[in-house]
Amino acid sequence: MKITVIGTGYVGLVSGACLADMGNDVMCLDVDEAKIRQLRQGAIPIYEPGLEEIVRRNAGAGRLRFTTDVAESVAFGDVQFIAVGTPPGEDGSADLRHVLEAACNIARQMTAARVVVDKSTVPVGTADKVRRAMADVLAERGVDFPFSVVSNPEFLKEGAAIKDFMSPDRIIIGADDEHAIDVMRRIYAPFQRTHERVMVMDVRSAELAKYAANAMLATRVSFMNEMANLAEALGADIEQVRRGIGADPRIGYHFLYPGAGYGGSCFPKDVQALMRTAAEHKLSMRVVEAAEAANHLQKLRLPQKVVARYGEDLAGRTFALWGLAFKPNTDDMREAPSLAVIAELTRRGARVRAHDPVAMPRAREILAANTAVEFCDDMYQALDGADGLLIATEWKVFRAPDFQRVHSLLKTPLIIDGRNLYQPAEMRSQGFDYQGIGRA
Ligand code: NAD
Repeated sequence: MKITVIGTGYVGLVSGACLADMGNDVMCLDVDEAKIRQLRQGAIPIYEPGLEEIVRRNAGAGRLRFTTDVAESVAFGDVQFIAVGTPPGEDGSADLRHVLEAACNIARQMTAARVVVDKSTVPVGTADKVRRAMADVLAERGVDFPFSVVSNPEFLKEGAAIKDFMSPDRIIIGADDEHAIDVMRRIYAPFQRTHERVMVMDVRSAELAKYAANAMLATRVSFMNEMANLAEALGADIEQVRRGIGADPRIGYHFLYPGAGYGGSCFPKDVQALMRTAAEHKLSMRVVEAAEAANHLQKLRLPQKVVARYGEDLAGRTFALWGLAFKPNTDDMREAPSLAVIAELTRRGARVRAHDPVAMPRAREILAANTAVEFCDDMYQALDGADGLLIATEWKVFRAPDFQRVHSLLKTPLIIDGRNLYQPAEMRSQGFDYQGIGRA
């Protein structure tokens, strides 16, 4: 099949590469010329394990190409996937500017029927807006080509995006015409060899399913974070509590880890957009509102522990920070808890020596104005003379460090572990003042 993917970010590039890997002819369009130039030279603008190899293989075989030329990309694919960003607007609602621009571009250039597939996360009703916007453009042009609008929300996780796309838990297709449903089934047939994973539903339910999934996950994280804070106050260990509740199949063990708050490009913005949608319908989502409020507080949990140890004024103190990305195996810094930790520590006068295995280039750009932050290429170098180590991301490389070396490099052997990577008793026996999240 000939497929165009609009947007070459985390979702678009992974989708394009994986669709090409199944033998489709794929053209990826982006407005960002630098990104397209890089991709054409075989360089990958984002960090995503396994992506580079798939892009290289398929570009080399001529099945995956990159362009900034809208006319060329509209002419190319019978199916046009929209995978552009939907960042939060000022009031928290999803900003649909890029989605509508991509859709109108298709309508401006199309000379034959097209199936337009919305993969971006968009509020309920967006498919209708896309349909109307495209119809208006076609009417202005005085032409009438048939087109379908499909909602196909994406559930991949950054850091495991290739695996998630290649073997998805489910493929949601929101569509109301048989031709589009048939096309979508054919596109996804190779991704579900063991069993049927396609769920066809009406467009609005498909659009809402994505928000419901992210809001549920965000709520689960905030629930565990609050339970962890309570465990700490009560002298209980959240790790034991987690084991105790996860065994119940109605609860399950997945996604049950307390930490330093959730971040990333999806949960925070999708939770906000969902609340906005509810407000527009004069409804409130109290559970989701609470999950969001709890998350803001949780992001300050590590600095609070520092303040409890050293006092409100941190002038003259230096802290090592391991982990900048919002989670491991990605360079995505959007809404990362590390940013809140850094802002709070430096606001109180401290200096921060930070290390992340892949997110440092991105972090350097974002934190360029904060002169109290120093980036260290080596994780141990960050510890040198520090008043404590804070851990914000659970990269594998942080799981089993040389503790003797950590101890000898730190000025004070304090570890505030926002990801519960280590065993408290073991850490104490090695002479550390160790504090996790919810671990008495
Ligand atoms: P991103 O910011 O990484 O990439 C978006 C890309 O779209 C950028 O390269 C941008 O230049 C390009 N773009 C913007 N307008 C364009 C236009 N008119 N034509 C062509 N290209 C254009 O975003 P992302 O993280 O890939 O997310 C994309 C969408 O997918 C969002 O709605 C997001 O909520 C959703 N989503 C993201 C994830 C994730 O893990 N990142 C997972 C599921 C769903």
